[in-house]
Amino acid sequence: MDLRNLILILGDQLDPRSLALENFDASQDLVWMAELPEESEHVWSHKARTALFFSAMRHFARGLEERDVPVCYPRIGAHPYGGFTDALAAGIAAEHPQHLVVVEPGDYRVVNRLREVASSVGLPLEVRRNSQFLIDLPEFQDWAKGRKGLRLEHFYRYVRRRMDVLMNGKDPEGGAWNFDKENRKTFGRQGPGAVPAPTSFPPDTVTKTAIADVQRHFPDHPGSLAHFDWPVTPEQAEAADMRCLAETIGQTLDYGYAHHIQRLMITGLFALLLGVEPRQVHAWYLAVYVDAVEWVELPNVLGMSQFADGGLMGSKPYVASGKYIQRMSNYCTHCPYDPAEATGKSACPFTTLYWDFLMRHEARFKDHPRAGLQWRNLSRLDEAKRAAIRRRAEALKRQLAPSSS
Ligand code: SF4
Repeated sequence: MDLRNLILILGDQLDPRSLALENFDASQDLVWMAELPEESEHVWSHKARTALFFSAMRHFARGLEERDVPVCYPRIGAHPYGGFTDALAAGIAAEHPQHLVVVEPGDYRVVNRLREVASSVGLPLEVRRNSQFLIDLPEFQDWAKGRKGLRLEHFYRYVRRRMDVLMNGKDPEGGAWNFDKENRKTFGRQGPGAVPAPTSFPPDTVTKTAIADVQRHFPDHPGSLAHFDWPVTPEQAEAADMRCLAETIGQTLDYGYAHHIQRLMITGLFALLLGVEPRQVHAWYLAVYVDAVEWVELPNVLGMSQFADGGLMGSKPYVASGKYIQRMSNYCTHCPYDPAEATGKSACPFTTLYWDFLMRHEARFKDHPRAGLQWRNLSRLDEAKRAAIRRRAEALKRQLAPSSS
């Protein structure tokens, strides 16, 4: 008998309660998952990232089989296919399904690939809602329609209200929407009081369950972020000039992991100050971090970190000097550079490039309502100082430019 549905489950959709499996009937449906070289090669991918995905996929497939869900799972090395197009076409030829089913992929490249395959073999492709997201795409598009900018804070408040999470009527529980100010202070300081527990959660979806689990297991935790520690040890450092960068990159290459603040305010900040092409920064982040998938990585890197969307997601670039890194970490105590200096032999490259960045974008931001204050500090620099900073910034850029040979 021909198959009714071939259910496609992608590596970042490993949810046993996925809507892909709704109304699953083992007598006429089959799950299809595949380990495909293309997924690790369309950008260069850290070994740890690929291993993590495959391991999670294999665990998931085994879990389905234990529940008597039939799974077709071509493993890497055991099939000749490079990507979705060939592998899925072969799966369809072998199983003769009447429909293809998938939950909304987080990546346009994959959706397009699946649509191409479906149309080339003349099969309907049913794309179901991805319940890993609190808000589905049509609702997000409705929210985004007509807005000049897509500010995370505005969307976040919309979702809090819409899902009734940590709300007290129309107001946020505890009287504050977020604790960003505490997050910006030096770690170890005490934040404001605890945020009371929410009284209700809407039913359904895995994400909502995760929020409820945290609430149940950690009811006494404060809402402040003041207790988080900087997760880097000096021992991991390799001998290199810029301690913060050497440690963050070394750790990233070793483990495929870095803390969000290391990603945003060390590597991301350095790329932004230096003027690295944003698409290259995006490709690097997607490649090196075990938890990087494009739907979350791309807007974070291009929008939040590199300000490469022209201000769609953020109102101003996140820039800081070496003094910020000094305040937030212990890197600078082990570094030959001085974060307070922008010129001279011991000047911290972050600080030099920070002032250079402010000067390069002075016309655009000096009267900006949120960034103006930061830019107005430029008035402290006389022409001689400005010229010295520019010279040192240029020397740094020459030194750090990829060799043309
Ligand atoms: Fe990084 Fe500058 Fe601090 Fe050195 S002095 S660790 S380069 S911020």
